[in-house]
Amino acid sequence: MKKHNFSAGPCILAPQVIENTANAVRDLNGIGLSLIEISHRTKYFEPIMEEAQKNFKELIGAPDNYHVLFLGGGASLQFAMVPFNLMEKKAGYIETGVWAKKAIKEAKLFGEVEVLASSADSNFSYFPKNINIPSDLDYVHITTNNTIYGTEIHHDIDCPVTLVADMSSDIMSRPVDVTKYGMIYGGAQKNLGPAGVTFVLIREDILGKVSRQIPTMLDYRTHIKEGSMFNTPPVFAIYAVNETLKWMKQMGGVEKMYELNKAKAQLLYDEIDRNPMFMGTAEKESRSLMNICFVMAPEYKEKEAEFLEFAKSQGMEGLKGHRLVGGFRASTYNALPIESVKALIDCMREFEKKNA
Ligand SMILES: *Cc1c(COP(=O)(O)O)cnc(C)c1O
Repeated sequence: MKKHNFSAGPCILAPQVIENTANAVRDLNGIGLSLIEISHRTKYFEPIMEEAQKNFKELIGAPDNYHVLFLGGGASLQFAMVPFNLMEKKAGYIETGVWAKKAIKEAKLFGEVEVLASSADSNFSYFPKNINIPSDLDYVHITTNNTIYGTEIHHDIDCPVTLVADMSSDIMSRPVDVTKYGMIYGGAQKNLGPAGVTFVLIREDILGKVSRQIPTMLDYRTHIKEGSMFNTPPVFAIYAVNETLKWMKQMGGVEKMYELNKAKAQLLYDEIDRNPMFMGTAEKESRSLMNICFVMAPEYKEKEAEFLEFAKSQGMEGLKGHRLVGGFRASTYNALPIESVKALIDCMREFEKKNA
């Protein structure tokens, strides 16, 4: 039986993405060779890279002066590459969780970090509002969706300086105004594909403004110039990302994803709010459409392990919350069908009948 996959990442991919990628590993487009046993500098792979970059730009709605890069090292390497390439003196960071804190730690190696807003005071249960942004910063860094805490900012902020966004876990889950960002990056493994590739969408004019030397591999200009082929790119992961992008286009694009994501999240949050056995952990306005965090209500606290066990017996996977929040986390990424959300809600109702 195919399980209901609520994993936070790597996570569920559309069935056709798995199917097409598996086929390409066996035999790429009938050429008699596997995707993973050919040179990336061939007429077999180069069009795949170009198509992935084109599809990415088209889906997210990026103007011509933005470049799409597919790099290694995960979003975690971007925490260092961003300040390496963009910070001369001082940058502003919005501290909304573990990933933001990790980005701040790296940035401090390169200059001064001003934390413009933080939700650390309440275990990152909300996204700070009305953030005041000084204009003497080299850039501002924001984590739009906080995968661990289940909080998300649902709009694009106006920023007087270059805005850099870690969108690892909400990329293409809602429409964004790309022109408000100098750079958008993330690990692919949460909404776009398998682990092993990092996407970077970058406006070229933000580069070349720092005085330090940048090692070739860590310089965005290298990868722009070489079309993400300076060194061997992760061909397997890029192939699967392109299949995901093609699937999203067939489905109706990012607008449609947003509509489906809102519908899924609404169903589950409504049940969390209705069912006396459960409660949400994030403040309502900041609730994520991608990672839905909830816990057992205090009077049922001792039932937590039992509910997880019961959900598992009903085919639910990946529901255990992150240890920093506890309870449960249902990740409802683009590829998760609404039927899985309904199946989880059935579990919650049945558990309520048995116990409440
Ligand atoms: C998962 C995650 C990361 C880390 O990604 P890696 O590709 O594993 O380095 C960074 N930021 C956010 C918001 C994430 O969800």
